[in-house]
Amino acid sequence: MANLLDVIQRIRTNRFEESDWLYIAGSAKDLTLKTEADLGCPEFAEDSNDEIGPAGFVERQLQSTIDVDTVAQCIVWADQLSGAADDDAALDIIRYYIQFDAWPQTLNAADPPPADEILRHLDREFYDKLGPEDSSKKCRRDGCDRGIVRFSDSCRRHHFENICKRPCPFDD
Ligand SMILES: [Zn+2]
Repeated sequence: MANLLDVIQRIRTNRFEESDWLYIAGSAKDLTLKTEADLGCPEFAEDSNDEIGPAGFVERQLQSTIDVDTVAQCIVWADQLSGAADDDAALDIIRYYIQFDAWPQTLNAADPPPADEILRHLDREFYDKLGPEDSSKKCRRDGCDRGIVRFSDSCRRHHFENICKRPCPFDD
């Protein structure tokens, strides 16, 4: 049975077909060099367009992940980051790419923040840019006692809600 290390070595020595994909057993986050893996070309059922793995792959519980060209680019990037032909580094980049569909900037990079965390960060930046409130003028929203921010007739919270069309997650 082939494992991921075998696959990496095949790619390093150009023993693959252009149409191959990387198949792995189990989930990408648990991927190691010893994880069962293989290269193969998927086919598609004529009637349903369902993907059919190469013969025997289903029995080995292998699932397609990324195409071989992308795996090869992962290995090149890993070698550049580590300054050597380093299979552990290649594993790290391949695992990251399969999980997050992106190249990490460094080896052993932390997982990228989930999308809602990124949105929250952007919201906060926008909110901070609105600047201080002028308390000599009152927010036009009924029942709001706050002042207004520049170029607006509303307080920070209500200006945010007017622009973003959703509740403001901040209170300050
Ligand atoms: Zn207000």
